[in-house]
Amino acid sequence: MKNLLTVFSLFLVAYTVSAQELKLNDPLPVNQKIKKGVLKNGLTYYIYKTDVIKNVASYYIIQNVGSILENDDQQGLAHFLEHMAFNGTKNFPGKGVLNTLQKHGAVFAKDINAYTAFDETVYNMDNIPTNVDGLIDTSLLILHDWADGLLLTDAEIDAERGVIKEEWRSRQNGDMRLFKNSLPTMFNNTKYAERMPIGLMSVIDNFKYKALRDFYHDWYRTDLQAIAVVGDIDVEEIEQKIEKLFAKIPAIQNPIERVVVNIPDNAAMLYNLGMDKEITTSNISFTINQPKSLKDETVADLKEALFNKMVSSMLSSRLKEIAQKPDASFVSASCSYQSLARAKNSFGLMIYPKPNRQQQAFKTALEELNRAVKFGFTQAEIDRTIAVYSNYYQTKISKIDQTPHFEIINSIQKNYLENETMTDLAKEYELVKNIFAQLAPKDLHDFLKKLYTAENRVLDVTGVEGDNNLSREEALTIINNVEKDTALTAYTDAFVGETLTSGIEIKEGKIVSEKNNKEINATTFVLSNGMVVNYKFTDIEKNNVLFEAASFGGNSLLKDADLPSAAMVSNLVGMSGLGDYNSTDLAKVLAGKSAKSRISISELEETISGMSTTKDVETMLQMLHLQFVKPRFDEDSFKVLQNNLENSLIRRKGDIAYKMEDSVSTILYGFDNPKKRLFDEKYLKDISFEKIKSIYQDRFNNAADFVFFITGDVSKEVLKPLLEKYLASLPTTKKKEKWQDNSVTWLNDTNKKDVFLPMEDPKATVRIAFKNKFKYSLKNTYLLKAFQDILELRLMETLREQEGGTYGASVYSSLSKRPKESASFYVYFDCNPDKVDKLVSIVHQEIDKIKNGTIDKEDLDKALISYLKDVKEQKEYTGYQMNLLYDYFIEGYNRDEAKNNVDLINAIKPQDIQKFVQLMMNNSQSFEIVFKPAK
Ligand SMILES: [Zn+2]
Repeated sequence: MKNLLTVFSLFLVAYTVSAQELKLNDPLPVNQKIKKGVLKNGLTYYIYKTDVIKNVASYYIIQNVGSILENDDQQGLAHFLEHMAFNGTKNFPGKGVLNTLQKHGAVFAKDINAYTAFDETVYNMDNIPTNVDGLIDTSLLILHDWADGLLLTDAEIDAERGVIKEEWRSRQNGDMRLFKNSLPTMFNNTKYAERMPIGLMSVIDNFKYKALRDFYHDWYRTDLQAIAVVGDIDVEEIEQKIEKLFAKIPAIQNPIERVVVNIPDNAAMLYNLGMDKEITTSNISFTINQPKSLKDETVADLKEALFNKMVSSMLSSRLKEIAQKPDASFVSASCSYQSLARAKNSFGLMIYPKPNRQQQAFKTALEELNRAVKFGFTQAEIDRTIAVYSNYYQTKISKIDQTPHFEIINSIQKNYLENETMTDLAKEYELVKNIFAQLAPKDLHDFLKKLYTAENRVLDVTGVEGDNNLSREEALTIINNVEKDTALTAYTDAFVGETLTSGIEIKEGKIVSEKNNKEINATTFVLSNGMVVNYKFTDIEKNNVLFEAASFGGNSLLKDADLPSAAMVSNLVGMSGLGDYNSTDLAKVLAGKSAKSRISISELEETISGMSTTKDVETMLQMLHLQFVKPRFDEDSFKVLQNNLENSLIRRKGDIAYKMEDSVSTILYGFDNPKKRLFDEKYLKDISFEKIKSIYQDRFNNAADFVFFITGDVSKEVLKPLLEKYLASLPTTKKKEKWQDNSVTWLNDTNKKDVFLPMEDPKATVRIAFKNKFKYSLKNTYLLKAFQDILELRLMETLREQEGGTYGASVYSSLSKRPKESASFYVYFDCNPDKVDKLVSIVHQEIDKIKNGTIDKEDLDKALISYLKDVKEQKEYTGYQMNLLYDYFIEGYNRDEAKNNVDLINAIKPQDIQKFVQLMMNNSQSFEIVFKPAK
């Protein structure tokens, strides 16, 4: 609380006392914890010690190389090369890289991955154990091989062509086609327009081996490479190892210059209209390109970045306010300032118009921008934004030791690729406070005027066939009229600062009993109104508090006719605000606070969950209090919700993914199943405001029928009076509810069907599933998961690596306890329509193999080791303690005990999985649905 007071008093004195002088040309304070060095060969390294997760480290190689460096005949090779890093290196031939890491519990695509962009290629190995002998050296050796040891054999190159083509296929959709179509406009006809990282399939099919090897030699070189090691390590030891291993790599002679492609200025507005048969709603992006400096940063840059964020966020709030009115011409709109390319940023508007209202939507959003350009921002808006950023910095600094690896890596990447300073956050905040102290509304106003230039404008419209799409001429006329509009008036902020509960009478109750539970070190409070609250302190994550309340019942107690309204309760409540405030004002009341709370109704439960920082626990509990005594149902919000739903209905019409969802549902449950209804016009008509209200009042009318859990960095002494004030004061009844079994069965036991859909780019999508009655137990949960992961490894090996038939197959599984005990699993992949039969038969063969006991011990070990690693790592988060409380008090077991996890995992033998799969597949229900392009 002390910190917050300091900030508020700063506002008061800002204009009377002269703050410390800002030295705008000073360099920014550097985070001294990040060790940065450059080897003689030009390779840069970064090392950072953190035990945010104990006994693991993350290893990255950042290549300042992307598709922008490809020649015309190399389009797609930067990305192809990225794949080859997992297909044989000097010290890890074949699939050696993956195999080695998987043996230590790392999971491909989760812990091990890579990406290729226009200007960079980045490889990662996350959370690799540091307490396993030799594994640090092995991990560094992999980085070394990625830098300078790819084998790029003919056979592996040829095998990968199919995988890349399938990756291309699975990424093809309406949004992707529109994105590609907009590139020349977005990047002003520079080379970027021709360098989609996925490349050209004609190149992928036909390139000569040498072309790829040349690209590797020309661009993967020490002066364009950085490695980063972040984790529970010894900095000096790592530095010595890096020196020893990487200094040997020779710098290449006469390197080709790594140019940065500049996007030239444009005087006239660039315009693009794109349309696609599968996209049936429009959007408009109006941006103004801004210069981006790659020079060393100074305090002036920090100030500029802060102003960019403040201006965008204040404009976004104004746009959001408009979208919350039923007659708004857009569904949503926002303002942002973001990176466009290596040497360019962009500032502007993103608008999602309602159907056939593009012109009005564009005009309204542009008016808001121009209103701010003409009149600036109000003091109240600025004060709230300052409160938001001050709270952000304070929270971040209080948790500095918990900064996750990826955030550190992110700042390292920006430092290496774009020369951004890796700042010391506490010192940065001192500067920011100083900037705030001297900030006058005029500063932000002047700043925005500079951003809003007449040059470098880009308008990209996604149109809809048959609609009145925003043309270039119309847009120019609108812009001209809005800019000259003398009737435009300043924004007014009618909101007067009040607190969440002002005007609400709260009659405090009492804690009537307090029982300590030694087994899990928790406390159970019974309150005078009958409520039960289970609490456990943990500061494993500093300044983080979680809250959850759960009550059985959910949708299972509702009539079928009420289900469409029930599905919208959480949405409407979220949009309506809380207590006396609509959602616009609620955001204002909560500015500078970190507290959230949301309700939801699922099949068998209704829940309220929340989170806050330590200082804002009271606010979180106030929100919870209001959710019971003064929920808000706003008719205007309901109209907005209806508009949004109509819009998403239109959007679904062309979208293939939704068509597939609906087909699966119809095949399994029929067209008119009242419990599994399709989202259509009729469904929308059945959603009613009054019904939503009554469902909420019915589900959330008795706080004593919920079990409450609070865990995190809040002491018992602080919490107790808050519980008495905000929870013990809630009205309650004696009524208790249970869930009902309302589950729906499939119409047929076996469902085999090909479904033909019209599509722009032909691809097949295969979905295969099995389900059966099955006894629920923790042991069976692990057996099913192991089966799922082993099958996924097998399908990766066969469908992807051997057949080159798919970019990847996913397997999902679930063992459910309620309403019926059952097990199910589900295989999903996209592929070339010509290969469906072969790939489907491979899936069945692989399932059969496991059923017949052919289980590779190595596959099983990979899965089990990753579960053991998970059990350990979960404990580093507050969320683990929440699960512990829930499982203990609701499910009746202690998650901390080895017999409920580690012992079960260690005991799993291949035969157990075989038996499990046999039992599960015996007389199971199944479906096999294949989507193919209609001729
Ligand atoms: Zn890829």
